[in-house]
Amino acid sequence: MLKFYFGPMDCGKSTLALQMNYNHGRQGRRGLVLTKHDRSGGPRVTSRIGLGLQAIEVEDDVDLVRLVTAHDRIDYLICDEACFYTVEQIEQLADLVDEHGVDVYAFGLASDFRSVMFPAAQRLFELADEVCRLQVEVLCWCGRPGQLNARVVGGAMARTGEQVVIGDTDASHVRYQVLCRRHHRSGRLGEGSMEPAHTAQ
Ligand SMILES: [Zn+2]
Repeated sequence: MLKFYFGPMDCGKSTLALQMNYNHGRQGRRGLVLTKHDRSGGPRVTSRIGLGLQAIEVEDDVDLVRLVTAHDRIDYLICDEACFYTVEQIEQLADLVDEHGVDVYAFGLASDFRSVMFPAAQRLFELADEVCRLQVEVLCWCGRPGQLNARVVGGAMARTGEQVVIGDTDASHVRYQVLCRRHHRSGRLGEGSMEPAHTAQ
């Protein structure tokens, strides 16, 4: 079974990933937790509510079939930040399900700051047995459900740039903000957006 859970930042994806790992582990199942570019900066899955777990960082050249089959017996994979994997690695996840009987639970963003789908997320939409949209009380500043991530550079919403830029770190002047579709399209960031809760510096 290949499942993809997607939603904007802060919607609880990593928290659900950690919860799922805990539940499977408690049933005696053996799994691996993978991530890429986690917000902690190291190979860990961390959630905004403060849970954390050691994880394997998925570099672009890692063959996931080889990685998993090198282990003794793996029943399931938790793949956090799967939107940042390569398309080839998503194919490898499907192979693990079909050829090796591994259950794969992938979590990630669907679209980037321009509201364009990440290639890996697109491949997951195409291949997954099940796709679930997570909507856990992330609201735009206007109160509507948050659906899309905006990249904010120097206080203004960016419309162009590299697809992946790590933000919300101490060294970065880039941050991300969840907006409703209306405000993602208009670019209005709301009152007080110049001094967000988790900004740089
Ligand atoms: Zn809004």
